Amino acid sequence: MRKVDVIIVGASLAAAAAAKRLTDAGLETVLLERKTLPRHKICSGILSPRGHRFLLENFGPLPPEVLHAPTSCRGVTFHFPSMVSLSMDFFGGTTPHLHRKYSDHWAIQQSRAEVHDETSFAGLEDHGDHVLVHARKHGEPLEYRARWVIGADGPSSLVTRAVYPDYPKQIPWFFVGQKFHDIIECPLDEQYFHFWFHPGLGHYTWSHARDGRQIVGVGFKRGDNFAAKHANVVNYLSEKHGVKLKEHTDDEGCAENFGPSLINRYVFGKGNVLITGQAAGFLNMIGEGMSCALHSGAISGEAVVEARLRNRPVQELYRKMIASEVRRTSDQWNPLKIAFDRPHEADFPAALMALSWRERGLVLRDLWRFVVLYKEFKWGRQIANAALQRPLLNGYSVRKWL
Ligand SMILES: Cc1cc2nc3c(=O)[nH]c(=O)nc-3n(C[C@H](O)[C@H](O)[C@H](O)COP(=O)(O)OP(=O)(O)OC[C@H]3O[C@@H](n4cnc5c(N)ncnc54)[C@H](O)[C@@H]3O)c2cc1C
Repeated sequence: MRKVDVIIVGASLAAAAAAKRLTDAGLETVLLERKTLPRHKICSGILSPRGHRFLLENFGPLPPEVLHAPTSCRGVTFHFPSMVSLSMDFFGGTTPHLHRKYSDHWAIQQSRAEVHDETSFAGLEDHGDHVLVHARKHGEPLEYRARWVIGADGPSSLVTRAVYPDYPKQIPWFFVGQKFHDIIECPLDEQYFHFWFHPGLGHYTWSHARDGRQIVGVGFKRGDNFAAKHANVVNYLSEKHGVKLKEHTDDEGCAENFGPSLINRYVFGKGNVLITGQAAGFLNMIGEGMSCALHSGAISGEAVVEARLRNRPVQELYRKMIASEVRRTSDQWNPLKIAFDRPHEADFPAALMALSWRERGLVLRDLWRFVVLYKEFKWGRQIANAALQRPLLNGYSVRKWL
């Protein structure tokens, strides 16, 4: 049985950030990744300025092979049913358009941690002074003994399920699917990620350019017809925006734990097991999750380093240290912060003020109707209520029962 200081489950961005902190402090760290590396990751790859700064500061300049074409992104364009479009540039200029298969692998390599790929986490036993980790490689069981474990295994985290078996039933889930189209004609500016606040299209609808093709994606509930929802969006783009696409050539989709950051249902682990990244619930508005995965991942690594240095329980340290990231993520949903502060990384207030009074009124009306749409869903109701009440809530404390 292999004995190490820390096992990290997952070999993505949260894992790379955690691993970097641990290896810098001299802790023997092994990452377990179920797939063969470099591995595919479904993601638009639009990096926020904060995520970009983190990569530069911690891993150095990005090599060109970790980027998709177009290689950079200027910001985000919101489209509304009233046909007002709002383009918001990122603060501080363009950011790289990441090809997650290669960017994540590059970050993992830069962390200098040892990686065991094709190795799936299967379970754990926390014995107080160490954790036994059960894994499987090519169908064969494997065991590791670690002082600490970090679960950085994404939205459907098995580490989270091992620590909180009921958790999947307690949070909102939704599905996303995207199709890749060759382009006949596309007037949507390829320098922006495009997002529709349109109740007739669904609660999560996006499109952007990648490597000469156009991606069209939709969010949907269990039982919804993805193909029909997608076709509806393609028709809408054609009629309203003049986007002419060929039949799709590829498609993909996955389940997402959307909403925990809004309703304050983060999970951080128990005993010697920490949970971080999207597994912990970190996901910013409109599904931007790389920056908070990187930052929360780094904080989980720092908490372990601190626990070792000061001989203190790691949970106590992690929960104190992660509070800043909780506040930052939750602020993204706070209407007062959005109106009077800058919780996002693209300039929404400036873009709104650049519109005429009439257009601003239309945008605010459309946003209101969009939030109300969430009330269709059981969990959506809770999310919509939280969004509407957020300024009244003292919602930033980490829930004790989790
Ligand atoms: C369609 C889509 C578009 C998105 N677009 C953007 C975007 O443009 N910008 C942005 O910032 N965010 C985007 N996101 C969100 C972003 O991809 C995630 O929030 C981010 O990748 C989370 O990082 P993570 O390190 O926490 O986990 P993940 O990136 O999910 O990585 C988890 C890792 O754990 C591994 N793993 C899982 N289970 C096991 C196991 N049992 N054993 C071993 N390994 C395991 C997985 O294979 C994976 O490598 C998008 C998400 C989707 C679905």
